[in-house]
Amino acid sequence: MHSLSRDYFVNGILIPLLEKRVMMRMIYFDNAATTEADKDVRLAMTEVMVNHFGNASSLHAMGISSKKLLDNAKEQIVQLLNCNSGDVLFTSGATESNNAAIFNVSMRATVGKRRILVSPIEHPSVLETVSMYEKRGLFEVEMLAVRSDGLLDMEDFKAKVNKNILAVFVMAVNNETGVIQPICEISDICKENDIYFHCDFVQGLGKIEFSEALFDSASFSAHKVYGPKGIGALYIKNVSQFYPLIVGGGQQRGLRSGTEAIELVVGFGLACKQLKTNQERYYEHATDLKRALERGISEMPFINLNAEYNTIPHINNIYIEGVRSDVLALLFQQQGIAISQGSACSSNNEKNVSYVLSAMGFSEQRIRSSFRVSFGKGNTSSDVEYMCKLFRDIHNKYGIKGR
Ligand code: PMP
Repeated sequence: MHSLSRDYFVNGILIPLLEKRVMMRMIYFDNAATTEADKDVRLAMTEVMVNHFGNASSLHAMGISSKKLLDNAKEQIVQLLNCNSGDVLFTSGATESNNAAIFNVSMRATVGKRRILVSPIEHPSVLETVSMYEKRGLFEVEMLAVRSDGLLDMEDFKAKVNKNILAVFVMAVNNETGVIQPICEISDICKENDIYFHCDFVQGLGKIEFSEALFDSASFSAHKVYGPKGIGALYIKNVSQFYPLIVGGGQQRGLRSGTEAIELVVGFGLACKQLKTNQERYYEHATDLKRALERGISEMPFINLNAEYNTIPHINNIYIEGVRSDVLALLFQQQGIAISQGSACSSNNEKNVSYVLSAMGFSEQRIRSSFRVSFGKGNTSSDVEYMCKLFRDIHNKYGIKGR
């Protein structure tokens, strides 16, 4: 983590240079919130900003050079996703991708067919958007049930499906629990009933296989896979029936207007290329870290995982009895470990209690003592062992008082 300025802000608080040194040694266990951009990605982006600043729509040599970079990056994403039939658009991130997919669906809504099924554990960029369209009278939203293990309740889903359902919005992997949702089964049911299926694939990219056959559209974000922030992608199966959310200068074949940010696009493309080469190795590494975590907590009866099965090893939602997660996060921070109380996105909501864990049926007290540890390629087993040692120390010292 490097900073160009002497001082900088975190959560609105000025962190002076001295504390910045502490942060530079931090063990970063918040990779589901964002990852550190890969060094090669940063270098490539800098090179583009310095030497390839042309507008990809310009017809002179610099424009043509930018267009080539754009096409190359797109190819890198297409290769990672292994998609042949649909198209992939660059967006400003998965928030926009989800908004664009939902807008596209809203344009297909008719009086007889405007009911949509949504899982209540979707990212706010899905939940807030469908709720906005519902308030405008464009959608009728029906929430799906989630089981206590974090999986969508498929019996409930099947009972709610009928020919009048316009669309289903279910994510591939939950960002708070790491639970992999039954997307193959959902896709089959959607196909049988002529239902549009949009999948937020942000936390699944590079962790579970992406199969374009399953979806009508899917969202991705670069900063979760060692790429830059501010760029994402939207996979669309049927381009000819796509209604663009952002219109204007006609870039990206009119499907998403706006001058392409070539440095971000190049960074995202390179991150995808590296992911394609390394995804199995990264997965094994995360599995090793998860094993170290399980070993570490195996003799701590005061610690439990909130979701144990069908999860990716990268995301672990943990309950520590008797210690509030805000206290824990602060104590960890003092010891040089960054963890998250839930998702970075729900930290903006008023109650600041995870709606994902609520949907799984956990008590408010348990949720307030739960936190997320998310692994990335930069973590080591000894980082995990150190964290486990702190679990015990903190529980011994603050277990009762922490409440
Ligand atoms: N969906 C999920 C599941 C996410 O975890 C995130 C990032 N927190 C987003 C969507 C939004 O992605 P972005 O930050 O690229 O807008």
